[in-house]
Amino acid sequence: METVTPYEEIIGLVREAGGEDYKLCYQCGKCDAVCPWNRVRAFSMRKIVRQASLGLSEIEQEEIWRCTTCGACVAQCPRGVPQIRIGVSLRRIATQYGVFPDMIRAAGTAAAALRIDRNPLGEPAGRRADWAKGLPVKTFTEGTDLLFFVGCYYSYDPRLKKAAAATARILAKAGVDFGILGEAESCCGESMRKTGGEAVFRGLARENIKAFIDRGVRRILVCSPHCYETFRRDYADLMVSFDVVHVSQYLLRLMDEGRLVPAKEYRRRVAYHDPCYLGRHNGIYEEPREVLRRVPGLELVEMSDRRQGSLCCGGGGGGIWTETAKAERLANLRLAQAREAGAQVLATACPYCIANFEDSRLTLGYEEVVEVRDITEIVDEVV
Ligand code: SF4
Ligand code: SF4
Repeated sequence: METVTPYEEIIGLVREAGGEDYKLCYQCGKCDAVCPWNRVRAFSMRKIVRQASLGLSEIEQEEIWRCTTCGACVAQCPRGVPQIRIGVSLRRIATQYGVFPDMIRAAGTAAAALRIDRNPLGEPAGRRADWAKGLPVKTFTEGTDLLFFVGCYYSYDPRLKKAAAATARILAKAGVDFGILGEAESCCGESMRKTGGEAVFRGLARENIKAFIDRGVRRILVCSPHCYETFRRDYADLMVSFDVVHVSQYLLRLMDEGRLVPAKEYRRRVAYHDPCYLGRHNGIYEEPREVLRRVPGLELVEMSDRRQGSLCCGGGGGGIWTETAKAERLANLRLAQAREAGAQVLATACPYCIANFEDSRLTLGYEEVVEVRDITEIVDEVV
């Protein structure tokens, strides 16, 4: 009988978990040069890839949970190494063995909450549509033109519910025939998949796909770039595809059609932050900027890291559930960049970015210096 060494076992597990392309890496280190972590602490994706190729990965180490899947390294690698997929494959192995360091314990809590109430915040599924009380929002039924897929953080988080309400008001003002799923909506599952919880992800995806098909959903509007990515890419792995649009694209379309006319002035200097999953992962850089440019009185400024070179907020890839030391928070750097650019408002279009930036505002004592707004909140004020 053939003997399998521990090294071969790890290599086999990584291969099974989808991370076999580690062998393409020739250790040039370009990934580490652009990784945002190296601005606040030492971190090496190159080393993680190397360890995987030699079967030396230690799934107990915190480092495999550090990557925010921001995509900066993927865009730079001369060999096309799928660093994110390799990292996720190691997390899948760790999840399979139930090995979680303290910094990512919240992912375990989120997984449990997702199994019960289909959201990571541990809120009752029956209260998912509470944010819409008193707003012109109906439940999606067969024949409704557009499904507004709200997402977990916009549905439950007190700060982000304001952006969901802004979106609903804008859609109503533009005369869009839209509806929400309410209790029938489940988390898209993106962060769970990136933290190795493949079975939980697939369960959530099945619930959503069934809800979409049962109700005859044809077009889906999302506010979260993570939902956008998941419906377009991850659900395609499950052999289904839907017509999905991000709110930044949809607002611009409504403006082009003359259905949404920014009329009031918004006399503020605004810096736009490109969320990783909207920009680098999906190439949507211009639409949110153009929406902001069309707001009368608004002065759009750029930060030092922007577009393809945007700085991650730290929330992707399970980062939103990770304990990060204050001195290592990437969002703090971003707030400082907004301030350097002379911005009074830091605008973005992602729930994780908003949550992290709001947290950094408090940490840095910037409450009176920089406001954090979702682009929908700005548009809602001026139409
Ligand atoms: S950039 Fe690509 S080839 Fe270079 S070390 Fe990183 S993963 Fe390896
Ligand atoms: S995806 Fe982003 S956080 Fe992860 S290793 Fe690459 S550059 Fe670093």
